[in-house]
Amino acid sequence: MNNYFKNEKWDKPITFAVKHKDIDVRMASRSGGVFTALTDYVLLSGGIVYGCVLDDSFSAIHIRATETFTRDRMRGSKYIQSEMGDVYKKVKEDLDSEKYVLFSGTSCQVSGLIGFLGKSYENLLTIDIVCHGVPSPLVWKDYIYWQEEKNHSKVKSVDFRNKKDFGWKDHVESIVFENGKIINSRVFTTLFYEHSILRPSCYVCPYKDIIHPGNITLADYWGIDNATPGFNDDKGVSLVLINDETGYSAFKKVSEMLDIRKTRIEDSMQPPLETPCQKPENRSEFWKNDINKTFLLVEKNNKPTKGFYGKVKRKINKLLNHILND
Ligand SMILES: Cc1cc2nc3c(=O)[nH]c(=O)nc-3n(C[C@H](O)[C@H](O)[C@H](O)COP(=O)(O)OP(=O)(O)OC[C@H]3O[C@@H](n4cnc5c(N)ncnc54)[C@H](O)[C@@H]3O)c2cc1C
Ligand code: SF4
Repeated sequence: MNNYFKNEKWDKPITFAVKHKDIDVRMASRSGGVFTALTDYVLLSGGIVYGCVLDDSFSAIHIRATETFTRDRMRGSKYIQSEMGDVYKKVKEDLDSEKYVLFSGTSCQVSGLIGFLGKSYENLLTIDIVCHGVPSPLVWKDYIYWQEEKNHSKVKSVDFRNKKDFGWKDHVESIVFENGKIINSRVFTTLFYEHSILRPSCYVCPYKDIIHPGNITLADYWGIDNATPGFNDDKGVSLVLINDETGYSAFKKVSEMLDIRKTRIEDSMQPPLETPCQKPENRSEFWKNDINKTFLLVEKNNKPTKGFYGKVKRKINKLLNHILND
């Protein structure tokens, strides 16, 4: 039975710091690649995975995957609200036909699914991600269009957070254009962290707690150097919160694929586990402004460190990380 309905959520999650043993998996994932380990297990068992991908027009949508190629598109954080479409209905059909289903998404999406299903299923595993909020897809569309106009070319691909070139902790978006040009920018990233473009529901999010609706909750392990010194290599560590028996049983099944350290919840806290982010006082003003002028202003003030000095800065950071963690 899904423990949510049996009211068997633990009072406090068990926490782990986790890295996938395969470095390629980690580099393709936002944090430590735990999502890939769990979904590999589900797919190998003949199950179905639901999660968020970017479609051809760079909109975030939830889709169904039965093989790794489609699942791979779900890796990495897309910092915009994902469109659910008829996915809850499809999940129910799969569950009713006794398929093993893993559903992943933000806490409100997981909670919405549980409410939609209205009854418990033994064959459902839910994974929610810690999120401090999701930006408006409308502003994202305007941003893509603004970049296309500025660079005289259609966008070919987008990486919301380029881990390969800037490391796990930094946050720089990279855009590849059809004309071959590649840019690194902090414009959308900056607006994301300034919170004006978040959905209104995120300012009153009820999931800013250590208790979550998923069987397992995943996050970036921002307190890692304190929680388990020496484990961080700036390639990504997941904070895994195991919330109930169903989650624990699934996590044990994939543990062979993972490097795991047991940690304490007290050393794992970050703001989105405690309180919703504050709505900026000037939010309504922001929405009245010309968005293209806003992009331009933000760009002027927030250039990523690139070229020679950027390389030197990243090398020093890497070296410091190495020294501090050895
Ligand atoms: C909008 C957003 C805000 C976030 N904010 C925080 C934060 O404040 N603190 C923090 O520690 N971590 C945050 N994260 C990142 C989260 O920590 C990672 O998703 C998690 O660490 C899983 O990493 P992984 O390496 O196991 O998996 P990956 O393979 O990188 O994980 C992919 C998972 O993310 C899901 N996903 C990606 N984009 C979306 C989306 N737009 N909507 C719903 N689901 C999505 C996929 O369905 C899949 O389940 C955020 C992610 C998103 C999408
Ligand atoms: S902050 Fe809360 S309401 Fe907003 S997307 Fe995340 S879980 Fe949902």
